[in-house]
Amino acid sequence: MQYYELTEPDHELVQVALDVIGRNYDNINYNHTVGSAIRTKSGKVYTGINCDGIHGSCAEFISMGTARSAGERDFDTIVAVFNGAPNHLLPPCGNCRQMLLEYSPDIKVILNDENLKMVKVAISDLLPLAYKHSE
Ligand SMILES: [Zn+2]
Repeated sequence: MQYYELTEPDHELVQVALDVIGRNYDNINYNHTVGSAIRTKSGKVYTGINCDGIHGSCAEFISMGTARSAGERDFDTIVAVFNGAPNHLLPPCGNCRQMLLEYSPDIKVILNDENLKMVKVAISDLLPLAYKHSE
C-alpha cells in the first residue's frame, strides 16, 4: 500500500474534524461520536458528524452529502475522528469505502496505521477488487 506525504492542509483537516465533533459530541441522546472533514481539490472543507437512527449514517456520508449539496464534485482528501479518543482516526467502514470509491475514485483517506501512526492512502487501496456500478 502506498502512503502519501501528509501536508499541512492534511493536519488542518484532522483538526477541523476534531473541532466539529468536539462542538457536537453527544454520546447519550444521539450517539454523535464521530466527526469527519472532507477537502475538495479547490481546497474547500466540509464537515459532518455521524447521525444515529435505525440505520444511522457515518460521518463520512454526512460530510460528503454536505459537500455535494453545496455543488462540490471534485474531492481530494477525507478523514474521520472518534472524539472519545483524542487523535484516534477512524478508518472508513466498508460501506463508506464503497461510497467514497464511487463518488471520488481518487480520493485520499487519512487514517491510522496498525501502529497508530497517521498515514494517507488512496481509497482504491482500501477497497481492492471493488464492485463498480459502471461495470
Ligand atoms: Zn462508514
